[in-house]
Amino acid sequence: ERNYQAFTARVSSDPAVVMLLMHDLTAMKRAEQMRVDFIANASHELRTPLAAVTGFIETLKGPARDDAEAREQFLDIMGVEAERMRRLIEDLLSLTRIELNEHVPPRGEVSIEAVIKQAAAALAPLAKADGITISVDCPGPVPAVSGERDELVQVFQNLIHNAIKYGRSNGEVKITLRQQMAPGRRGPEPQVVASVKDDGEGIPAEAIPRLTERFYRVDVKRSRERGGTGLGLAIVKHIVNRHNGRLQIESRVGEGSIFTVLLPAAKKAAEKPSDAGVTE
Ligand code: ADP
Repeated sequence: ERNYQAFTARVSSDPAVVMLLMHDLTAMKRAEQMRVDFIANASHELRTPLAAVTGFIETLKGPARDDAEAREQFLDIMGVEAERMRRLIEDLLSLTRIELNEHVPPRGEVSIEAVIKQAAAALAPLAKADGITISVDCPGPVPAVSGERDELVQVFQNLIHNAIKYGRSNGEVKITLRQQMAPGRRGPEPQVVASVKDDGEGIPAEAIPRLTERFYRVDVKRSRERGGTGLGLAIVKHIVNRHNGRLQIESRVGEGSIFTVLLPAAKKAAEKPSDAGVTE
């Protein structure tokens, strides 16, 4: 604290400038603390499955050496734990990649309907295993959005995966897609609205604002049992931010949850200032 003050005092004697610098330094300290916490959490999350794997290796080398049945069972558990580490590393890498690009505006034009269909198809086998049906309802035409297709597929995969993980067995995951007009800087602008609704356990109101924090889970044990890493919604939030969109979460405990992604429609070629007057 004292170092910061000495530093700011040297930089300027104007109280307003000093205040501003102190404010920046507080924000920097907070960001640094978040980074330290993140590394500590990530290491802890990796250490747990690793401890299980090394523990079973010891058991297999020692007491369970000649027990064929135990060996099969332990190898299965080790496989599950190794898979958990793989998923965690994948999610950590995704998050880092997305954060690096967060301030780069996305370029391609993407149909959200196609994105949702791709994400739903990828998760259909998992849903089927739980007796859950996935439906996609897109009653009218919906404009394209400017975006990175792979990132947007990941958004909907994470949301649909959660709806399956925390949904009711034999329940339903309903995805709806529509467009609406939203207030923009130069009057109303079209927006694409996609929601993923489940009829599962729901989320307590006080937990909702924290869901997109890294490693935050309402029920750590349940998330682990369902193969969660605690990073899915943090990834969703970063991708949606990069696309100038918003994520809305509504939920009722015991009834289910609705995760809605709102994205600005891509500007038509004629509206883009850079294209004005250009003929090809
Ligand atoms: P996880 O890998 O644990 O699922 P996420 O970041 O995707 O991590 O979600 C964070 C937490 O939010 C979950 O652990 C769960 O508690 C809660 N959650 C997310 N989606 C839902 C949902 N559809 N229904 C109920 N709880 C949910």
